[in-house]
Amino acid sequence: MVIKNIITAVKNIYFGPPVTRMCPEVPTKLSDRFRGLQKLDKTKCIGCGICANTCPNNAIKIVRARINPQSDKQRWFPAIDIGHCLFCGLCIDQCPKDALESTKVYLTGVIRWNHEDLLFTPDMLAREVDINAEEEAGEEVSRWTPQ
Ligand code: SF4
Ligand code: SF4
Repeated sequence: MVIKNIITAVKNIYFGPPVTRMCPEVPTKLSDRFRGLQKLDKTKCIGCGICANTCPNNAIKIVRARINPQSDKQRWFPAIDIGHCLFCGLCIDQCPKDALESTKVYLTGVIRWNHEDLLFTPDMLAREVDINAEEEAGEEVSRWTPQ
């Protein structure tokens, strides 16, 4: 019995399919329904606050931010505390303007040592600033890549 088990183990080591993978070097295949980091389209957002009122974890605040990187004009937009986000997608479902969408990003910009670094401003949600911020995150974190 012992010999049989050893033979089975050796066979699997050399000839069986791998049962584990190297993460993050080998990316996970994500389902179509996967909900990752949100993305904001500032041109669609009307600052209504429905997303903030919907969030079950109180992770969204409506804050003033510039309407785009080239303008000093400001309007109200959501900011999301990703450290408190459940990625439930309710804010996206309830947005009357389809201004929020879910992306497949769950590593880049989301792995941070400090909670304050997970406070995603409207500029960050709109990807007007580099959410990877490699210099701040350090080498160990910056090698994590988006899917
Ligand atoms: S993202 Fe949608 S729900 Fe949230 S403030 Fe903008 S328009 Fe309103
Ligand atoms: S995905 Fe859910 S928990 Fe996260 S900000 Fe939206 S409503 Fe809140």
